Parts: sequence; structure tokens; C-alpha cells
Amino acid sequence: MGDYSIGVDLGGTNLRIAAVDGDGKLLEKLTLGAEVARGREFVITEMCKAIETLRAKYNGSGQLLGIGIGVPGFIDMAAGMVMESPNLPDWKSFPVRDEIERRLNTTVILENDANSAAMGEKWLGAGRQYDHMAMYTLGTGVGGGLVLNGRLWHGMTGMAGELGHFNVYADGHPCGCGSRGCLEQYASATAVVRMAHEAIARGESEELEKLSHDPGQFTSRSIYNLAVQGEHAAKKVFENVGRALGIGIGAMVNALNLPMYVIGGGVSSAWDAFATTMFEEMKFRSSIYSLTSPDRIGHEKGTIITRALLGSDAGLYGAARLPMLEGFSQLEKGRH
Ligand SMILES: [Zn+2]
Repeated sequence: MGDYSIGVDLGGTNLRIAAVDGDGKLLEKLTLGAEVARGREFVITEMCKAIETLRAKYNGSGQLLGIGIGVPGFIDMAAGMVMESPNLPDWKSFPVRDEIERRLNTTVILENDANSAAMGEKWLGAGRQYDHMAMYTLGTGVGGGLVLNGRLWHGMTGMAGELGHFNVYADGHPCGCGSRGCLEQYASATAVVRMAHEAIARGESEELEKLSHDPGQFTSRSIYNLAVQGEHAAKKVFENVGRALGIGIGAMVNALNLPMYVIGGGVSSAWDAFATTMFEEMKFRSSIYSLTSPDRIGHEKGTIITRALLGSDAGLYGAARLPMLEGFSQLEKGRH
């Protein structure tokens, strides 16, 4: 190994930390049960302790280039602060980047978790061959990230790439962001469960109803299992996912004409239940997609919509990549 960096993925239930070298080789991964509910100070202290452990172990064989931290929420890149995060209420407007830099004496980059995942897929996953791509992470919510010319596109303040809040139905289901009909309300795991409940309320499916009696078992995964068995209402739920994705991604294709759109997150494993509807909808909604679809002009030159490859590690690898791209090193910054 040569120089390396450390990526952090701050999830809702655990904190994952990985040391990764410049070739993308995983040196070591730690999973801490540092629940964010225990507060900012606790999490930051546990995170710094684990980073110090990794640094002590690997510093003999290479330089630590810095730390990238993927955080769920809106980030102010210039200030290195979390502006808004439902999962991390006490992180709001706290100078978290500067505080961690002070404790560890190395470069720290704070990034949105979905942006980190996009960078991970660009570096080592589905987007390796592409300089430009968009990524959708279909999880509890729908995250998004944009990579242009090999770098994350941050927009003016760092809040760009919120592809989950593209409006797909003007008067649709209310969204946590304050709007209505956002993609997130039709393509997240939460949305899959809600749409299944709506089907039950309309009396459309006894099988879904039966499944819903055990709320612990009523998940997007079990609804997907019913869909692949051919259950009509469950199939329709995933067709709704595909339709919403087709509308949302179609708008992106029209706006940016990127060569690649990557779909990751837990719900992406239901690909075979939503992809057909998604592609149909994309051709209908986006003439640009229609003109550039791989079945029309070939895979090499076509607009590719594909599944992510790195699973839940995308954000971790992407976060580790950030300090490498910044070109900082402890030496350059005159640190030891
Ligand atoms: Zn929204």
C-alpha cells in the first residue's frame, strides 16, 4: 500500500469507518454501534478514537491523506457544517469539520451521504468508466448525487443533487421536505410500504393484507417477494416505483444528457419488478432518452441506466475517495 485515507459513513444505527488506499483497496473496516441518538459529542469521540486506531496501524506504510465523512443531511461545504438533518438534530450549525480536524490534526471533508455514495460508484463501481453520472440511492428516503467531470457537483452551497425531491406528481403525496409528490414518496422503501398499505385500504389484495398483520415483516423486501410471485397489487406497487423513477430520471436526462444513471440502495434490489415500467416511462417522458437508448444506438454510445455495484459500501468508499481528490496531504498542509 502507499498513501491512504479514511472514509466514514454515519448511518442511523451504526457508524462505519474504513481505511482505503489510493487504488481503492480496503485495508480495514470498522463497524461501531455508535448510535447517533446518544448525541453528537459521543459519536464524534467514538469516531475519532476509531480513526486514531486505524492511523496508528497504517501510518508506518503510508501517509494519511485525510478523512471523508458522509452525513445524512444538507451540508454547507464552505462552513463544514450540517445545515439540516432529521437524523442528526444536534449536529445542526455546529462546526463539525473544524472540530474533527482539530482533534485529529488532519484534513477532514464533510459530505452528504448520497453524494459520497455517488463518488464511490464513480470510483470503483458502476460508473468507473464514466466521467459524468447521476446516482439515485433508494433507501428509507431517496438520495441523489451528481458527478460531473469526475468530481461531485455541489452547486452554490453544497446542496446540489437532491434528486429524491424532484417533483414527479404535482399534487402527490406530501413529502418531508414540505413539497408534494417528490420522487422519494414513490421510490423509497418507506414509499413501497405506504403504497402497499394504500392498496390494502382500497381492498385490492388479501395477500398484502395478511402480510401486514405482522408489521415487522411488512417491508419493501417482503412486498417485493410477493410481487415476484406474481401477486397483482404488490406488482403494481413496484410498477409505481418504476413509473416515478422513469419520470424523475427522464427529467434529468432532458436536463443534463449524462451518459450514466446509477440506481442503488435497498430498493434497487427490486430492479426486475420496476425496471420494465421505468424504461417504458423514460422513453415516453424523455425524447432525449428515446433517441439515445442503448437498444437504439448501442450500449457504447447510449444512455445507460443501471444498478449500483458496491451495495452499502458505496458511501464508505466514496467518502474515503474525497481527500484523495482534494489533493491535500498532511505533508502539503505542513502537518505531521
Ligand atoms: Zn420532497
